[in-house]
Amino acid sequence: MSTPSIAQPLVAPPALSSPDLSSPAGQEELTIARVALPVAAPQTFDYRIPPDQTVLPGSLVQVSLTGRKHVGVVVGLSAHSDIDASRLLPIETIYPQPPLPVDIRRLVKFVSDYYQSTLGMAYSLAVPPLSAYPTPPKITIQPLALTETGREQLNAHFEQLGKRSATAWRALWEIVKTGDAISIAQQQAFSIAQKKYLRDWRAVGWLAPADAIEAPQFPPLHAEQRAAADAIAAALGSFQSFLLQGITGSGKTEVYLTLARDIVAQGGQVLILLPEIHLTPQFLARIRTRLPGVETALLHSGLPDGERLYHWQRAAEGRAQLVLGTRLAVFTPLPNLALIIVDEEHDASFKQQDNVRYHARDLAVWRARVRQVPIVLGSATPSLESYHHAQRGRYQHLRIQQRADPQAALPRLLLTPATHAKSANETADDDSRHGIAPLLWDAIETRLARCEQSLIFINRRGFSPSLKCNACTWEAQCPHCSARLVLHTRPTRLRCHHCGLVQGVPERCPSCGNLDLLPRGHGTQRLEAALTQAFPSARIARIDRDSTRRRHAFGAFHSQITDQKIDILIGTQMLAKGHDFPRVTLVGVLGADNALYSADFRATERLTALLHQVAGRAGRSALAGEVIVQTDFPTHPLYETLVRHDYDSFARTLLDERRAAHLPPFSALALLAAEARDDEALNTFLRDAHQQAQKLDNPDDLVRIYPPVPATLVRRAGYNRAQIVIQSHDRRALQHFLMAWQPGLDALRTKQVRWAIDVDPLQI
Ligand code: ADP
Ligand code: ZN
Ligand code: ZN
Repeated sequence: MSTPSIAQPLVAPPALSSPDLSSPAGQEELTIARVALPVAAPQTFDYRIPPDQTVLPGSLVQVSLTGRKHVGVVVGLSAHSDIDASRLLPIETIYPQPPLPVDIRRLVKFVSDYYQSTLGMAYSLAVPPLSAYPTPPKITIQPLALTETGREQLNAHFEQLGKRSATAWRALWEIVKTGDAISIAQQQAFSIAQKKYLRDWRAVGWLAPADAIEAPQFPPLHAEQRAAADAIAAALGSFQSFLLQGITGSGKTEVYLTLARDIVAQGGQVLILLPEIHLTPQFLARIRTRLPGVETALLHSGLPDGERLYHWQRAAEGRAQLVLGTRLAVFTPLPNLALIIVDEEHDASFKQQDNVRYHARDLAVWRARVRQVPIVLGSATPSLESYHHAQRGRYQHLRIQQRADPQAALPRLLLTPATHAKSANETADDDSRHGIAPLLWDAIETRLARCEQSLIFINRRGFSPSLKCNACTWEAQCPHCSARLVLHTRPTRLRCHHCGLVQGVPERCPSCGNLDLLPRGHGTQRLEAALTQAFPSARIARIDRDSTRRRHAFGAFHSQITDQKIDILIGTQMLAKGHDFPRVTLVGVLGADNALYSADFRATERLTALLHQVAGRAGRSALAGEVIVQTDFPTHPLYETLVRHDYDSFARTLLDERRAAHLPPFSALALLAAEARDDEALNTFLRDAHQQAQKLDNPDDLVRIYPPVPATLVRRAGYNRAQIVIQSHDRRALQHFLMAWQPGLDALRTKQVRWAIDVDPLQI
């Protein structure tokens, strides 16, 4: 037996580098598999298919590359390899999971071309966590009863198999077919085999919690909801994009669920994407009450691998009819896909910020086109991209203007000066109010007296964003980043929010020795401390990334809030998204003006969306709501339109600005972002890259290349950062340009400089 060499073809001939999605016809035996691997090298790799085993394009396999094991995807089969047969390694494992279907492979190819990643890296997005053994999700014991589907399916099975079916199976069928609920006690007394069937049947939706089955009631849709649902239903079976614009609480989710019910009844699958893991439990609960018998696959990175693999498989086999997940779920194989829904479509979390920088919403639209199914983008505050498409008629614009619950009036919006921002020097007197304006202060007191909830929103975690010396100009700076250190309490530390550095707080000023070091500005912890002191009997909770680090922590907060065990909530943007807190009647917003100073052209768009979302948190039930925003620029169009609940006017204003400045969505951008410890290496790299770019074929000068500039955060974790912006009015020209640039950039690769291309960057 010859020992295969460990080395694999790192320099494959050009013929191999382009993925071969179809197997060539002919008589010769296809014994070679071309495999895409999650590595930085652009080409695919050849492996021997073990005799007597079958692989298909899309098969998931494990192979070795330079001594390391990788999970890869077979992208083509061949009879020949340019690698000597004796040097070819065999495929080590062929996973039993279904191969990635052709639409997923096309999607991946598109990702690799459009976002300038290697095919292997793009494929890694579509690969489920295969090292895990599929584990069905844990199901808590509840009284169960037969669903309609369950009755049909089990009846059919029984008619086919009758007495030949397993004893445990038959015994269980005799019990469930009466239609009576099976109590917890009954379930516990079952044999192991019966318990297994019980789990299986529940997983496929043949059994469902008994209480849910009795009341799967849908509210009758009101006219605007009906019109939206009808328009979308009419498009089933073809590609059409819809922008469903409706304020929070207008009943968008009911529209989704009504559509899902009808699609599922006809055997179709619905893919629902949400921007945040935290939003999935709430959505899942709504699915469970409305569509109790429907198997739902949950897909996000917070799940244990085995569970995620199980859900992926159920979806890929067409068994789970609803698929609910975060951006990674856009790559789930769905044989019976009929509709895609992207809720909160404006949310920046749909864009991945590292490795392959894809945007899941944009990919969802692409996938809907390939699969010829309709897609619904839902939001109270559509992204300017989607809004623009809707204005031009590329997306059908559906609106829900009224709130579903007529009692829930829109909250009243008030602007009040940001007191603390005004004082040049924060005196003890200012500090006692902790940056909270008197109007807001009073409003909180009123809510406490009425046993209603208040939500105070500030987009800064920690105690205070800065620590300064009272005698000289010293301010705590991160030694590795161009950023201030943030003061945190419990434990008292200085932390860098960019590189994670943690330091003790100096006892005296390192510069002049003064003992008087003052925290400047407010974060969530400082507000919490101030409000706790001012209202000792109030129950206060702080919700930010620090307080919700543990798994399930957010869920626990959520139930405490709905159960009215909390009076005042202090939180960052985590709180702004899609959550339904019916007893919140006051929302206070602090520090909003910061975004107006930002260099990022999207900052105002993001702030606007955020403020409209936060405002939507107040008064969602019969209790009237009030929103108080602290600002020093009350006449800014952003705030003026906010007060009128008029997102559309402001969106149009912003679009006019973008058009004038040739910014997205009126042009496409890409970024070559680079960083290096050594400034010289960074500058050389970007200068060379820039020169290369200028020499590239650029017909009609469709692509504009800007000179290198420092990034907004000039230094992070000891790396200096800079970038080159590329812009074009022609997306395709931009893509071709970037593809032509890649080999040159690869040739400039050095150990010193890290770089990445970000297409359609959300942060500049
Ligand atoms: P959105 O998704 O737009 O925030 P939801 O679908 O969550 O809105 O609706 C808000 C609330 O109003 C929910 O409690 C929902 O059950 C209820 N609701 C929605 N549509 C109707 C309707 N047509 N009749 C009665 N209640 C409704
Ligand atoms: Zn000092
Ligand atoms: Zn730092």
